[in-house]
Amino acid sequence: MLNNRQETMRQAAAFFTGEIDRLITKPVRLMEVCGTHTVAIFRAGIRQLLPPQVELVSGPGCPVCVTPNDYLDTAVAYSRLPDVIITTFGDMLRVPGSASSLAAEKAAGSDIRIVYSPLESLDIAAAHPEKKIIFLAVGFETTAPLAAATVLEAERRGLANFYVLSAHKLVPPALSALLADREVRVDGFLLPGNVSAMIGEQPYCFLAEKYHLPGVIAGFDPLDILQSVYMLARQIHASTAIVENQYRRIVRHEGNPAARQVLTQVYETVDAAWRGMGVIPASGLGVNDRYRRFNALAALPLQVEKASEQAACRCGEVLRGIIKPADCLLFGKACVPEHPVGSCMVSVEGTCAAWYKYGAGKWQV
Ligand code: SF4
Ligand code: SF4
Repeated sequence: MLNNRQETMRQAAAFFTGEIDRLITKPVRLMEVCGTHTVAIFRAGIRQLLPPQVELVSGPGCPVCVTPNDYLDTAVAYSRLPDVIITTFGDMLRVPGSASSLAAEKAAGSDIRIVYSPLESLDIAAAHPEKKIIFLAVGFETTAPLAAATVLEAERRGLANFYVLSAHKLVPPALSALLADREVRVDGFLLPGNVSAMIGEQPYCFLAEKYHLPGVIAGFDPLDILQSVYMLARQIHASTAIVENQYRRIVRHEGNPAARQVLTQVYETVDAAWRGMGVIPASGLGVNDRYRRFNALAALPLQVEKASEQAACRCGEVLRGIIKPADCLLFGKACVPEHPVGSCMVSVEGTCAAWYKYGAGKWQV
């Protein structure tokens, strides 16, 4: 027996799915660009609720997944230096690099510590003045402002042994690169609510203006996602293309100017390499010259061998939405969450891991 709230939600879901079915008369591919959306879609069984003409594909929505091997190899090389402590979010530990992973280095004795906020690195730096503390700064626009604020705090505290190895990435240039890729076919985007809370609506306008593609900034509840697909369906049906904001309760039109101000104070836009997508112009953030002494690469230069990819791993194509995880020959066999071969299988929000965990065997059809 459903209570009143559950019954209202059931009716809303039925309305959205019915309308999506009515409005979409030809097959369409809608891409979600956020690992958290990917998991929410699976967990709530949204793929099964949608009519068969609507296909949801996952894009390059997980910053850990899109971080290429050369970054991991550099982090591994730093971790082998006797006077270095690496601090990192836990997701990075198990991502395989060319020949090793941070987890393997930690097991072999390197001092690698998991932090839940970059600010924790500063306490470690203060407690170990004889060591160099390198924070692995990986994340999209959502997490980059906190890393930038950490640099400012390190300066304020006069810490001379804290460094950032930045692999921060920006979502809009990646969407632009995807759309310039002839192999990629997308009819609309579910845009990441968390990233949008920082950057606002305007940075996505090129989707509509240049590519005539609709985009909807979407929240993370199942009904948020269904409503966002419905909003995309309305646009597709009407042949319009604008950026709509379903997640207004969190995302303001102008985003979060204070967070962006911190970001631009410490970082500058740089060209950045993405796994499977190559170097995308102006798609990354590097520590700027004013804060150069906090930039690990500039302050602690080191030689790293040229990176190599795992044979047969198809993460790059998964991240571009060209193939489904099950199209990779390693999926569910050599590559499973317990021993991931590629980055997309590492965290549950990676596309392959989400398919594996929540696909409930549906990936086999
Ligand atoms: S695994 Fe999830 S939390 Fe970690 S970076 Fe990817 S999307 Fe973010
Ligand atoms: S199954 Fe594993 S190796 Fe294949 S694409 Fe996914 S993560 Fe990469």
